[in-house]
Amino acid sequence: MSHPLLDRAATRTVLFDGAMGTELMACGLPHGGVPELWNVERPEDVKDVHEAYFAAGADVVSTNSFGATPIKLAAHGLEARTYELNFAAARLARESAPPGRFVAGSVGPTGKFLKPQGPCREEEFVAAFAEQARGLADGGAHLFIVETQYDLREALAALAAIRSVSALPVFVTMTFSAFPRGYFTIMGDSAAKAAAALGRAGAAAVGANCTLASDQMAGCVRALRAATSLPLIAQANAGQPVAAPDGTIGYTQTLEDYLRFVPDIVAAGASFVGGCCGTTPAFTRAMARILVKE
Ligand SMILES: [Zn+2]
Repeated sequence: MSHPLLDRAATRTVLFDGAMGTELMACGLPHGGVPELWNVERPEDVKDVHEAYFAAGADVVSTNSFGATPIKLAAHGLEARTYELNFAAARLARESAPPGRFVAGSVGPTGKFLKPQGPCREEEFVAAFAEQARGLADGGAHLFIVETQYDLREALAALAAIRSVSALPVFVTMTFSAFPRGYFTIMGDSAAKAAAALGRAGAAAVGANCTLASDQMAGCVRALRAATSLPLIAQANAGQPVAAPDGTIGYTQTLEDYLRFVPDIVAAGASFVGGCCGTTPAFTRAMARILVKE
């Protein structure tokens, strides 16, 4: 597949942004609030976050649409606004993007489980993801990132859904935990199995995000590299979450500690690198200094 973003990755490491939700909470999004509503109610705050990541050196930002499937929005009675909220998410990110930078339409998990573990059928997931993808594509996303997926079947449903409505590249990242035997999702799928299946299903790039800290991510990238020749993407958390007495969540890795392991992630084979939970524009800026030499 030819795409300017994939072409850039052939010449140097391409930098994705860091966390969105925590940045919005810092702007006043209440705990339990719906981040995607801010795409229409507080658009300037969402754009401020995108602009901060672009200013820090991100090549790509992810839209504020992680939870914007109709399945997840239904918990807030917002399922009828799926297209509108996703369209707005992509538009805001595009309006924030300087020339030569990219917008990835973020597609997170539904939060529900497929049969037999849960009540849902694959067709429901495909319909839900397709509706989200239409909004993101029409709003101007340059690519999709299906992320934080814990069930390979759901990730494949999202990939199939997006490919049914758009020809844009689809990156897919699953969330793996580290075990003595390797890297597995909570559903028990190995990194190798996921990478191979997603590659066969037409992903433009595959990888891992969330759960793993930066010092654990290189091992996971090596496991993915052994299973696929596709470009790899890695977005590590800043360590593990810890709740402060006041209920706010902090992360165990300092910026300096996080950064120490980023070159290992690249050396392991990741051509796209960004941050996940606990990372901020300061992390992106520091990563740009060591990764992006133009
Ligand atoms: Zn995360």
